Amino acid sequence: MTENKARTLIEFKNVTLDYGETEVLKNIDLDIEEGKFYTLLGPSGSGKSTILNLISGRLKPTSGDVFLEGQKANDLPANKRQVNTVFQNYALFPNMNVYQNVAFGPSIKGFEKNKVDNLVRSSLSLVQLQDLADRDISEISGGQQQRVAIARALANEPKVLLLDEPLSALDYKLRKEMQYELRELQQRLGITFIFVTHDQEEALAMSDWIFVINDGKVEQSGSPVDIYDEPINHFVANFIGEANIIPGVMKKDYLVSFAGKDFKNVDAGMRPNERVEVVIRPEDLDIVVPSRGKLQVTIDDQSFRGDSYEITAIDDAGNEWAVQATNPAKIGQRRGLDFDPEDIHIMRLNESEEEFDARLESYEGEE
Ligand code: ADP
Repeated sequence: MTENKARTLIEFKNVTLDYGETEVLKNIDLDIEEGKFYTLLGPSGSGKSTILNLISGRLKPTSGDVFLEGQKANDLPANKRQVNTVFQNYALFPNMNVYQNVAFGPSIKGFEKNKVDNLVRSSLSLVQLQDLADRDISEISGGQQQRVAIARALANEPKVLLLDEPLSALDYKLRKEMQYELRELQQRLGITFIFVTHDQEEALAMSDWIFVINDGKVEQSGSPVDIYDEPINHFVANFIGEANIIPGVMKKDYLVSFAGKDFKNVDAGMRPNERVEVVIRPEDLDIVVPSRGKLQVTIDDQSFRGDSYEITAIDDAGNEWAVQATNPAKIGQRRGLDFDPEDIHIMRLNESEEEFDARLESYEGEE
């Protein structure tokens, strides 16, 4: 079977970036392929915009290399790169109308009027704004301004569109709509999108591939499902959704001990009695009668979340468990907690991403 591997568009090799004494990016490796939706996900200040600035050419690496389509591009000026950015504040020209904003890029490239007009019309229709071409920027809503910013970037026919927290100024409902639209637009155009957000739900909903960034490093990269189901460490498990993280010991292959008991699980390949962290997601836990529970707990707290109850339960070893349940419970009641072997995820302490990948492959191969 021949593997249909997409072409690599952007590659970072061991890239660092310093501001004076401060190391903002630390040995970043990235591989960005053609035609996919990527997300850089991480807390504010973790280095996401700095990575975008290195891709667009607004910054140069302090050390390491940036490759664009296989060519070293550390010193390639921004205007020589087929990359455009949509910013959080949109950065539209307030004294121009919608059409003029979108026409700006193609016009300064010196294209003839007809070609500019075609590019503007097709970009505006991609974001469904063809009827508002003559409006002033002050006469359209925030959501429409967002669309103009995207059309303005697309009119430059980029190979890569960078989106720096573009939805954070929108209200919840509009943001959800735009998430869907952006995803759909990327699939229709088939160009690479690199989207920056600190919102894990947004990242999980939109991306083919996520880079989790923390403190200038890539903590983990993978598909949304991989990252949610198999977080590599404490930071990722906590940052991506809610997680119960409990200290444990892998007694031997497929047997883990935590909260004072032994449980069958699906992990292998660790040293006997290796100390680990155990992750179980709140939605993977069921509250049952005490005799059916794998752990016995006391209900400590609960809050209503619209579509579910978030329940806090304490086991007999004193660990606190967050449980997402469809039915309410009674505070102070004795109950059982049930879960399946596959719901137990193991994190090794200080495991590198390469070791982590090898371990997952070793036990996935045995299934
Ligand atoms: P993010 O996009 O994840 O919020 P940034 O890439 O904007 O993070 O910033 C990463 C770090 O670099 C932050 O700690 C920020 O304070 C610092 N930083 C950004 N720009 C500059 C600058 N021009 N001079 C000094 N430090 C900067």
